[in-house]
Amino acid sequence: MKINTVAVIGAGTMGAGIAQVCAQAGWTTRLFDAFPEGLTRGMERIDAFWDKGIARGKTTPEQKAEWAGRLTAETDMAAAVSDADLVIEAVPELPELKAKIFAELDALAPEHAVLGTNTSSLSIADIAAATQRPDRVIGMHFFNPVPIMSLLELVRHNATSEATVQAAQAAGAAMGKTTILVKDVPGFATSRLGVVLGNEAIRMLADGVASAKDIDTAMVLGYRHPMGPLALTDLVGLDVRRDILLNLQASFNDDTYAPHPLLEQLVAEGALGKKTGKGIYDWSSGEAVEREHRLD
Ligand code: NAD
Repeated sequence: MKINTVAVIGAGTMGAGIAQVCAQAGWTTRLFDAFPEGLTRGMERIDAFWDKGIARGKTTPEQKAEWAGRLTAETDMAAAVSDADLVIEAVPELPELKAKIFAELDALAPEHAVLGTNTSSLSIADIAAATQRPDRVIGMHFFNPVPIMSLLELVRHNATSEATVQAAQAAGAAMGKTTILVKDVPGFATSRLGVVLGNEAIRMLADGVASAKDIDTAMVLGYRHPMGPLALTDLVGLDVRRDILLNLQASFNDDTYAPHPLLEQLVAEGALGKKTGKGIYDWSSGEAVEREHRLD
């Protein structure tokens, strides 16, 4: 399938980044958001990213002009998707909202269009069930920040066609991403491994095996992870990781995935990680500072 035009639905953290790499890949790109302020913020974020690239000598003003010339902000979803070959949805992680959007996309997008979802945890089959084209629905899980992170996790559900998988793989390659192909199971490949490692590190911290810094250093220097599992948990958000664990625990009916009580306690206290200034570490100084943890 030849891609000329891509529509991105939702202009938040992920949608803006996805639209940016689509424009850079050479496609006519239409970025839609249901909220005008969301759309403006998303377009501004892309512009700022390109300007930073120019300031650092990584991008030329000519390149920026070429990319920007292919990118338009759309306030009408029908107009955004009417000639799209590929639609990538990046609206909030709410099952009913995704289902509603996919039913609309199915009605509005050309029949041949592939519909991708950037969900990080929801069942692709459930989302595809809202459409009459489940064979052309696929998970396209990007990572934050999208222009920098090179992984694209493709998630195929039982009815995803081979042609759709190939189209998504080719699209990923054109965006400069390395794709992996994963079955439609809870947590896919990335989130499942990521949360299990983080949860185990929290268990070790609560058991007094080592300090948070030493647990993180173990993985950074011993296993060449770019960041330790505890610092990464603070970066992703403790609430986000807790919710993924609960989803895995329920879906697999396996308490191996139960969030550790210390994780639950920190979430209840509102210590959600870097975004609240405190999580496993204290981030109020801008740096990760060790803090005391006592289970109630
Ligand atoms: P976000 O809140 O930053 O952005 C969501 C955007 O969707 C907002 O701009 C909002 O105005 C818009 N929106 C809300 N309702 C809409 C509608 N009906 N139609 C169109 N737009 C609508 O969220 P995000 O972090 O970009 O996450 C989006 C999706 O990507 C979620 O499914 C999330 O799980 C997934 N994801 C997020 C990350 C991450 O690190 N943030 C990583 C991978 C995947």
